[in-house]
Amino acid sequence: MNPTLAPVILVIEDDPAIQKVLRVSLEAGGYQVVEARTGQDGVLQAATRSPDVIILDLGLPDMAGEATAREIRQWSSVPILVVSARGKEFDKVAVLDAGVDDYLTKPFSIQELLARLRALLRRRRPVDHAQPAVFQAGDLVLDVAQRRVTLADRPVHLTRHEYRLLCLLMRHAGRVLTHSYLLREIWGPDAAEQTHYIRVYINQLRRKIEADPSRPRHILTEPGVGYRWAESP
Ligand code: CA
Repeated sequence: MNPTLAPVILVIEDDPAIQKVLRVSLEAGGYQVVEARTGQDGVLQAATRSPDVIILDLGLPDMAGEATAREIRQWSSVPILVVSARGKEFDKVAVLDAGVDDYLTKPFSIQELLARLRALLRRRRPVDHAQPAVFQAGDLVLDVAQRRVTLADRPVHLTRHEYRLLCLLMRHAGRVLTHSYLLREIWGPDAAEQTHYIRVYINQLRRKIEADPSRPRHILTEPGVGYRWAESP
């Protein structure tokens, strides 16, 4: 691959050993790597190097990863993937609400990391250009322009809220959407605490679009966090 066309990955990580593993693996995967060891430098590199994706460690010496993400989010929509410290629990909801797109918990495989990166890079396009008008997952087709959902060519009748929920999930395929994000987007800011709304509507939606609603293949539950639309392989 022409190195000037390779996607640029900014790795914000203070541990030199992890930094090295990431650099070697990412370069072998065809990416250009830019490194930062502190949150402040990470924000600076994000602004000056225009990375295609940022990999962010939460435990940085000068500022928390969440604060770093929030600062970058003020002016950039670059996808951010959090890599959490080994064996350390972190607040996934707070991280996602800070504008992070996805997270990986150590230990993870390099294959897993590269798969998440590819998903983030693919997803980047619709944000920068026009949104696609049709989303598809197996037999399920959502035609945004026609406002029509079909399953194996048969129309699926959805309520307004079910339809909006499905749009959000499919549009952000592969990404975890938190309960509070879904509530705000569909029911408005006053509904942020009403997580039972989401559960009810997710169950209804699963009954209409999943082959086996008790073992969903499309709408995956992220326990205590929210839901993720499974990406097509
Ligand atoms: Ca660290």
